[in-house]
Amino acid sequence: MIYSVIVDVSASEVDRIFDYKGEGYKVGARVLVNFANRNTEGYIVGEKETSDYDESKLKQIIRPLDDFCAISEDLLKLSDFMRKEYHLRWVDVLRLFIPAEMRGNRVRSLYRQQVRLAVQDSLDVILDGLKPNATAQRDLVTYLYLNGASLAETVNAEFGNSALRALKQKGIVETQDIVVRRTPYKGIQLNAPVKHKLLEAQQKAVDAALADRTGKFLLHGVTGSGKTEVYMTVIERIVAEGKTCIMLVPEISLTPAALKQLRERFGDRVALLHSGLSVGERYDEWLRLKNGEAQIAVGARSAVFAPLTNIGAIIVDEEHDSSYISDFNPRYNTIDVAAFRAEQNGALLLLGSATPSLGSYYAAKHGKLKLIEMPERINKQPLPKVEIVDMSLETRRGNKGIFSALLKQRLAETLEAGNQAMLFLNRRGYSSFLMCTKCGYVAECKNCSATLTVHRDDKLLKCHYCGAAYYLLDVCPNCHSASFRQGRVGTQQVVDLLRAMYPDVKVLRMDADTTQTKESHGKILQAFADGEAQILVGTQMIAKGHDFPKVTLVGILDGDQSLHNEDYVATERTFQLITQVAGRSGRDKDKGTVVLQTYTPKHYCLQYAARQDYVGFYNYEINIRQSACFPPFSEIVRILYVGEKKQDCIDELTEQYAALTEIKANNPNILFMDKMRCRMERIENKFRYQILFKLSAEGTDDVIRQIYAVCDAKKRRDVSVSVERNPQNLS
Ligand code: ADP
Ligand code: ZN
Ligand code: ZN
Repeated sequence: MIYSVIVDVSASEVDRIFDYKGEGYKVGARVLVNFANRNTEGYIVGEKETSDYDESKLKQIIRPLDDFCAISEDLLKLSDFMRKEYHLRWVDVLRLFIPAEMRGNRVRSLYRQQVRLAVQDSLDVILDGLKPNATAQRDLVTYLYLNGASLAETVNAEFGNSALRALKQKGIVETQDIVVRRTPYKGIQLNAPVKHKLLEAQQKAVDAALADRTGKFLLHGVTGSGKTEVYMTVIERIVAEGKTCIMLVPEISLTPAALKQLRERFGDRVALLHSGLSVGERYDEWLRLKNGEAQIAVGARSAVFAPLTNIGAIIVDEEHDSSYISDFNPRYNTIDVAAFRAEQNGALLLLGSATPSLGSYYAAKHGKLKLIEMPERINKQPLPKVEIVDMSLETRRGNKGIFSALLKQRLAETLEAGNQAMLFLNRRGYSSFLMCTKCGYVAECKNCSATLTVHRDDKLLKCHYCGAAYYLLDVCPNCHSASFRQGRVGTQQVVDLLRAMYPDVKVLRMDADTTQTKESHGKILQAFADGEAQILVGTQMIAKGHDFPKVTLVGILDGDQSLHNEDYVATERTFQLITQVAGRSGRDKDKGTVVLQTYTPKHYCLQYAARQDYVGFYNYEINIRQSACFPPFSEIVRILYVGEKKQDCIDELTEQYAALTEIKANNPNILFMDKMRCRMERIENKFRYQILFKLSAEGTDDVIRQIYAVCDAKKRRDVSVSVERNPQNLS
């Protein structure tokens, strides 16, 4: 048999099929082959009777790498779809489907010795055969009799090795090696599952989804409308029918919560997939899904590649979230991938959000997704009241601080009542920049075109683009003055200010700086849930999903922050963020309030967000998109040129731009095309330039293929050229 193999080398020159000979392999298996005189891992992506090459010169596959077939048929089809759709190297896609450390054999199953009784006799009979003074042996036998097979390390610690050795010699006990699964978040506290009786809206949603097992649905349910219970019920039904499910949540910080609920309900049938796990845990969870021990995969975007077969449902919670779009190689859109897999498996696709992406809601309005609405909170809890504060008025009144008078008042009331508050500011660090008041010097990163953020906690200036850290300046390196002005307030400073205002109140902070270890997210959220602190300050990490019944106040410190960005998605993102954050307030019996601070109180985005009026916002924004011809009425494509040498990037871009100009001349589907430097011209010592396109929404496939072809013809090795379709971030 001839096998088509993709070798595990990520380079454009070898991004094609190589033929090998072999017998008895499965398509999808990983194998060892000789490639360019080296033994290299590879993936079998096809088989055939004959090769187009001289068969006598074809090499034999050396051996299989696993004792199972690593990549299932439907994932193989997905890889083909993804490489064409997103113009990816085949191997880069295949690598997404297996735990990274399987490559190069860097992870193995964990074996442990297990001890069990080797005889069937009753306990008395066995004990009769042992000397009365062999206490340890007698105890060990009794232990095994009562507890069944146990790990050798456990019994040795208790009864000593010699007892085990003696009993083994007598043939009374035997040992064997067994696989022990490493379980992530073993320590999370599980309670008895709460299974709510579905309310009418939830029941309707479940019924609608289950009525069409291959349907594609958009569940639009306001914050606190009980979407989670809908997901759980759907999963329960699908799994009961012998099928499998995938549930995606946007952020790693949310997975422990989702995992807890799923485990409480479905126990070991749930496996967690995300990059924050240890190597062994990830491998074992993946294997449990692969061999059918677990039927429900939960995780962030990479869980969409879970090695499940017979999938009955794929659920994407908070479907609008930008983390579903991978913006580095391999670039892909998780929602498209989920839709493709659902179709392949004949599964239902359920996208859920309180603030669906404009594209999804538009698709639902036009019949491409089936819309399910849950417009009310559980038990008709009112949505929180949002009070907008005009910060320029506040400044004119002499308050230059970050907290408005109203927010201070609401905070005092909340603390007084023994409730909790969340303060949201999407800027980490102490302040956004450091500027010399005398000469105007601003501390900048050496590697990036970015100003440095002040981090008082560790007395550093940090670059938020490349992570470089510099000593905090005492004097200006330019004029030696020691007087600095600080930029806009960050989360660290908010905490300091709160501590000064309320020395007795405990404040927690959650942002990228306080959540660097695997378990820190969960710890902070748990501490807050347990009432160990009354105020939680955080970045967008605190915005989503969390359900804290005692939170009755949410403060949004800088509602404008992302609004005046040039990206066409900026308004949509701001609306989503504010609605999500506001939705954290008043989820239980006590009424919630939200204080939204802004310099543009009249902006329609903030007005709609304050009323939590998604449909109103959608109607307004979709009109703007239509008249300006932005997605979903067009497709935005960018080609990004990145390299260490500025001139090389510009030269490559210029040549390709010329070729593209010719294509544009006779292609009416290219509505707009222009070249420019990126907003961040340099990141991590690399220069960045771009060509932006606007393509008509229909008939783009052909144009895209032509754009890909131009990019493939790049001449300079040291310039990377990549194409992004509908990029979420144009920095
Ligand atoms: P969403 O995800 O839509 O924001 P959640 O799923 O977090 O909302 O539900 C909000 C709250 O309502 C949770 O505390 C949940 O336990 C509770 N809840 C959900 N369904 C029911 C129900 N049928 N009866 C009573 N309480 C419910
Ligand atoms: Zn200076
Ligand atoms: Zn930098």
